Amino acid sequence: FLGKRGTPDREEKLRLLEMKVGDVHGVPVIIRETTTIHEAVVSLFLENVGTLIVTDADGHLAGIVSRKDLLKVTLGNPSASSMPVSMIMTRRPNVTTVQPEDTVLHAARKIIAQQIDSLPVVVPSASGQPGESWKVVGRITKTNIIKMLLDRVAEE
Ligand code: ADP
Repeated sequence: FLGKRGTPDREEKLRLLEMKVGDVHGVPVIIRETTTIHEAVVSLFLENVGTLIVTDADGHLAGIVSRKDLLKVTLGNPSASSMPVSMIMTRRPNVTTVQPEDTVLHAARKIIAQQIDSLPVVVPSASGQPGESWKVVGRITKTNIIKMLLDRVAEE
């Protein structure tokens, strides 16, 4: 994406920043809110991710649970492993999300502002009132964003 003089020209810069979340995001790793903390830890290792997206029985976004959330609860209390993740997850009104048509720049700013590693990519649920429930369609991470930048450099 670099111009002939080795610096991105204005047009190239804009094209990079206007890439959409929908072109970059990965597959979400989703668990149900009834999943136990033990099972959630197993999923973290099996799926090789740092955060798990939690959905309710209808498959709508309910929350998010990270490595530190799981470490914190199990260190303090080993018997916590049989509790459902719903007891420790960051709950929906507080979950930062993006939509597929948002720009990657917008997602990157949210990740840095909130000091988190990833964002669920959501669309309004077809059933129910818009804005009330969200269907999870993907997950965008710091790694996705860096990889997009590296791919652009490699295209050069
Ligand atoms: P880790 O805890 O493994 O370092 P993060 O830095 O992503 O992972 O998470 C830090 C905290 O922020 C955790 O308590 C987690 O529940 C919460 N969190 C993670 N992602 C989001 C998000 N998209 N919106 C709101 N909170 C989040």
